Amino acid sequence: MKFLSSLNRKDLQNKTCLLRVDFNIKDSELDKNNLRIRAVLPTIKFLIDNGAKVVILSHRGRPDKKCQISNIERQKLTLKPFAEILSSLLKKPVHFIDFKKEKKFDAAQISKTITRDSIFLLENLRFFDGEEKNDKNFAKQLASFGDFYVNDAFSVSHRKNASVVAITEFLSSYAGLLLEKEIKNFSSVMNPFDKTQDSRRVYRGVKNPKKPLVIILGGAKISDKIGVIKNFFKIADYFLIGGGMANTFLAAQGLPVGDSLFEKKAMPVARKFLKFKSIILPVDTAVYKKQILDIGPETIEKYSKIIKNARTIIWNGPMGYIEDKKFRKGSEAIAKAIINNKKAFSIIGGGETTSIVSGIKCQVSGNIFISTGGGAMLEYLAGKKLPGIEALNNITNCKNKR
Ligand code: ADP
Ligand code: MG
Repeated sequence: MKFLSSLNRKDLQNKTCLLRVDFNIKDSELDKNNLRIRAVLPTIKFLIDNGAKVVILSHRGRPDKKCQISNIERQKLTLKPFAEILSSLLKKPVHFIDFKKEKKFDAAQISKTITRDSIFLLENLRFFDGEEKNDKNFAKQLASFGDFYVNDAFSVSHRKNASVVAITEFLSSYAGLLLEKEIKNFSSVMNPFDKTQDSRRVYRGVKNPKKPLVIILGGAKISDKIGVIKNFFKIADYFLIGGGMANTFLAAQGLPVGDSLFEKKAMPVARKFLKFKSIILPVDTAVYKKQILDIGPETIEKYSKIIKNARTIIWNGPMGYIEDKKFRKGSEAIAKAIINNKKAFSIIGGGETTSIVSGIKCQVSGNIFISTGGGAMLEYLAGKKLPGIEALNNITNCKNKR
């Protein structure tokens, strides 16, 4: 893998960089303090300061391409507001490049547009079919107006999309500063470059981190997270389970869960994991209208004690229905326990999960890494190869590349 950080002015001056970021952000979370927006600023600055032009690429949401994208959908999923936010954060003009209503991607037109100034943001790539299909032709057209490509979207690297994977076939490709930071921070628990990786092995790419290792898993679904438990179950000392995920475990134990959110289909797999001592389930819960919506005070105390003694912590998924303030208590207590443990190295990821932490403390100390990855983080920890990262690793023997 080649890193953008290894390049200097000599390599970058007067070159055009196609920079893939993740601006898949809901309107309600769209502001200057958004983690994903702030996280890519150093990369943009690095490129500009070294004399490169930057064309920023991203997707947003899931436009329905089965029929023509409606104007309402275009308005809802446009990346236009990001140009203004970026411009005010960078204190430089950021030109938004609209696709208008063209059905075809007009690379020649875009090339003409990017002659002036230095920072450009392209409209939502998912307005074109080729993006999600990892279409080579689409990738080739994107590549046509850049001199090199940078992936700075760890959180999209589990997606086999044209601007993440296929594009690396046509341009020299690098990991951006953010992707590098993600990989380096995860390297305390994962070794992505481990040549001995073997798909038959239970724990793929897992390194032995400082112990005790405590993995806290919550959120809506167990099926997203079971891969992490499987990959770490011989290494983690504790899995603290909360959220809808805990409900599935409780149901698998034969306990009544009423109308709570749980996954019936995942009960057999939950049952298998129940026998492991390291799986810790809530001992009490907050219930409202027959639904378990948070962990209870005794569980908070129990989990906080375990977190206090940890030396490595991984957290993904809230402990309860955090959209309602009454049921944020469990997640907030977990966040506080992690923040207060200065001796552990902690990784926190997932959209909702990181919002709880930033709601308590805007700036966390250096022993806590806030990952921009949600689904990508879970797949990475589950030992799966992320296509976006693999593409950067396998780019030495490409004929078409400039
Ligand atoms: P993240 O965005 O941090 O990756 P997830 O998307 O996996 O987390 O899960 C977050 C969602 O899980 C939240 O919308 C939250 O309301 C929901 N959730 C967690 N616990 C419960 C629960 N007990 N009942 C209903 N919803 C829950
Ligand atoms: Mg989520």
